Amino acid sequence: MVLLRFAPSPTGSLHLGGLRTALFNHIYAKKLGGKWILRIEDTDAARFVDGSIADIRRSLDWAGLEYDYGPGKGGPHAPYFQSERRDLYQTYARKLLDAGHAYRCFCTPDRLAETRTMLQKRGSHATYDRACLHLTEEEVARRVRAGERSMIRMNDGSVPRRPKPKDIVFGDVRDAHASLPTDPVLLKSDLLPTYHLAVVVDDHEMGITHVLRGEEWLPSLPLHLDLYACLAVPPPEFAHLPLLRNADGSKMSKRRGDFAVSSYIEKGWEPSAVLNWLALAGWGGNPVTSTAHTPSPEQSEVLTLPELIQQFELTSLTTRGSVLDPQKLTFLNRRHLLAQMQDPNALKRIADDAMRLTRERYPNSDALDTTDFAELVRRMDGRFTNINSFPDLVAFLFCEPDYTTEEARAMKSRFTDEEYNSVIQASITLLSDPEEEITWDELTLYGMLYDLRDQCGLPLKKCAPILRHALTAEKVGLNVSTTMWLLGRSKTLARLKAALE
Ligand code: GLU
Repeated sequence: MVLLRFAPSPTGSLHLGGLRTALFNHIYAKKLGGKWILRIEDTDAARFVDGSIADIRRSLDWAGLEYDYGPGKGGPHAPYFQSERRDLYQTYARKLLDAGHAYRCFCTPDRLAETRTMLQKRGSHATYDRACLHLTEEEVARRVRAGERSMIRMNDGSVPRRPKPKDIVFGDVRDAHASLPTDPVLLKSDLLPTYHLAVVVDDHEMGITHVLRGEEWLPSLPLHLDLYACLAVPPPEFAHLPLLRNADGSKMSKRRGDFAVSSYIEKGWEPSAVLNWLALAGWGGNPVTSTAHTPSPEQSEVLTLPELIQQFELTSLTTRGSVLDPQKLTFLNRRHLLAQMQDPNALKRIADDAMRLTRERYPNSDALDTTDFAELVRRMDGRFTNINSFPDLVAFLFCEPDYTTEEARAMKSRFTDEEYNSVIQASITLLSDPEEEITWDELTLYGMLYDLRDQCGLPLKKCAPILRHALTAEKVGLNVSTTMWLLGRSKTLARLKAALE
């Protein structure tokens, strides 16, 4: 059985890149009938940010990415916080010492800094002069006994059969060892492991079969493979996910925008749309196109999580930078909203959100109690791309028109009183004619605009704005026929009459 892990460090809020890593771990585990672990890599106390673990869990929960084992869930691989696994790292460090794959280094931070500068001046790529590698066993024992602080370094020269780094997405990693530090530190003098030791020990101990993580860890792959070789245990398979990029191709960075998952939650995006968006980025099977925001009759890019799982292949990931185009998210969000409205449970959730947001915005509106939000959401069908824009779109239902605003007055000044009054008067007559008993549906109301045009002898581009002014006092909004339909017969008539006063 495949076993994967998502291993964030609690150094702040979860970002889109992290969510994408979790998503691919989830997708791949589910695709192969396996499981995945949430492991919190919290050994770097200096970088720990309060609240980040809660944020990671909340974000995963919102996205519907349920881990099989991890914090709050338990499972056979506990504990899931690296800070609770310190003994294990020390045991492994000792094992490596005993086997000659590691050695104690007593160099002080000052000496290390001086050495590095000296090596740099000489044009060397080395980061350490390996002075402590040559200490005798007696010397080491004496200094340990004397209580001198030491750290444990890997002995680069001892790696048996240095493996050729291979990655499922990036292929062979060339010049792999060039950028690695000399004899990297495995256990620091405070007895805490470095990331490299902890990640290898945990992935091995937990029995991880596939490591799917961000491209930023690709340079560390050779070192991790060296450690597996030193421990004489088989490594998992590795797939590094290409860095996320903005629509203009630039690297996505915290400085250039707020990419925290929490801000996508706040902004009202549908979790399924965000997952769809992240999955498509860098997924060769469905290239991101610049015209993606134009709804295409071909629905191949609009995929739910189960569909993503079904269609995913590890080999369809590409090394090309994964572009996240915000317009694409807007497109996907609308599609996901529309699809979900077909499902009564999802419709109810959307309607509840719509009601909550509308109540927050118009707390004193009389219309709140009489509105059936599920019906309203259904009627608005596809007219909003994000639930957060819902209150704006339906403002006219919950606020009486204010004809005294500058916008309203400017609108009205485009018509003569005669034009205005004749359109409103004729509308009132048409809409309340007992003979006609006009059916209150969008299409009939749309047809009425043509009757109005003929009766008043004014073009549609005058009739419609006059009605919009009377009904909403706003320059832009939904179609006038949709506006009347949503307002209902009595409110429409009441507002038309009020506009004449
Ligand atoms: N803890 C690392 C991070 O937060 C993940 C490293 C890994 O997945 O190997 O980015």
